[in-house]
Amino acid sequence: MIPYGRQDIQQADFDAVLEVLQSDFLTQGPVVPRFEQAVADKVGARHALAVNSATSALHIACLALGLGEGDWLWTSPITFVASANCGLYCGAKVDFVDIDPRTYNLCPQALVAKLEQAERVGRLPKVVVAVHLSGQPCDMQAIHALSQRYGFRIIEDASHAIGGKYQGEYIGNGRFSDITVFSFHPVKIITTAEGGMALTNDDTLARHMDLLRSHGVTRDPALMTHEADGPWYYQQVELGYNYRMTELQAALGLSQLERLDDYVARRNALAERYDAALAELPVTTPWQNPDSYSARHLYVIRLKLDQVTSTHRQIFERLREQSIGVNLHYIPVHTQPYYRQLGQGTGDYPEAERYYAEAISLPLYPTMSEAQQDKVVTALTQAVVGK
Ligand SMILES: *Cc1c(COP(=O)(O)O)cnc(C)c1O
Repeated sequence: MIPYGRQDIQQADFDAVLEVLQSDFLTQGPVVPRFEQAVADKVGARHALAVNSATSALHIACLALGLGEGDWLWTSPITFVASANCGLYCGAKVDFVDIDPRTYNLCPQALVAKLEQAERVGRLPKVVVAVHLSGQPCDMQAIHALSQRYGFRIIEDASHAIGGKYQGEYIGNGRFSDITVFSFHPVKIITTAEGGMALTNDDTLARHMDLLRSHGVTRDPALMTHEADGPWYYQQVELGYNYRMTELQAALGLSQLERLDDYVARRNALAERYDAALAELPVTTPWQNPDSYSARHLYVIRLKLDQVTSTHRQIFERLREQSIGVNLHYIPVHTQPYYRQLGQGTGDYPEAERYYAEAISLPLYPTMSEAQQDKVVTALTQAVVGK
């Protein structure tokens, strides 16, 4: 099976992890802060907080922004469930904004329309999670301008997007958002096995997320309510979690970070090779905004259903039968049973549902060979023209 994505682990990664295993600290030592600093420096953010997953990062990001009961979080329906679930963790309500038919990201025009309506009924969102699907950044300038006008905060779910650029600058620098989140799950751009990171330029948000990722406990006298009882003293000043990243994970991440630009360049080269190879097929290849340099986490094609005789499902199944590990990113979140039961339903987001009826993620990862890619193209061509 040619998988849709996979990690690349090299000797330098083994060496880095082994070195930590032989050191004094497996959990909280010097490597986690080094990894944080390296990512912050790389993307141009003031603070970076490593955690045990992007899901955890989204959760503490929402909490730090004050999201709670009675508040609304809005995001795109075409995302992994974690982008929405973080709102529910905080007791907030979740709603969705339809996607742009070209980028498949949250559509700024749909956002304007929804904000105008929400303002009339007094239900404006507190937080909007902008998901950079496949690594292509959202229209952050437009979303940021709307946040100024309507008073919401912005989290960039950049789980797909580390190493990508928006308007010539690395995603994660926070120019148009409050907090940016990266994922280091093995299928993502770089990996720490499980792992994630929250980045911000705001000192207060950073301090707050630092507390939340580790039980709400501090040893910093400046954060305590009264003077320390003694040198052993720590204080729990709020309710936090154990969301910490280990030294082993950080060592792997630091080692992988060295190859970030190479990975993204390779992904882009393979994506462009797909673009050329698929140009004559009845499929839509991923449109790229000239404003952005995508990290190319996913290569999503859309079938032109009026030009093929098979169904979406048949074509998908034929590819799997040929050992092509295609996937579908994503099932619209509002159609999940859990969200339906919360009052969401089909029909509310027509662009998202049209996308879901046509989309297929083709295999794409940096160690994929051109021969493997050719095999995908051949299998897709047969699957699409087959009866
Ligand atoms: C992978 C992913 C997440 C969750 O990442 P984890 O590190 O697995 O928790 C969140 N949002 C999006 C868009 C993702 O793709």
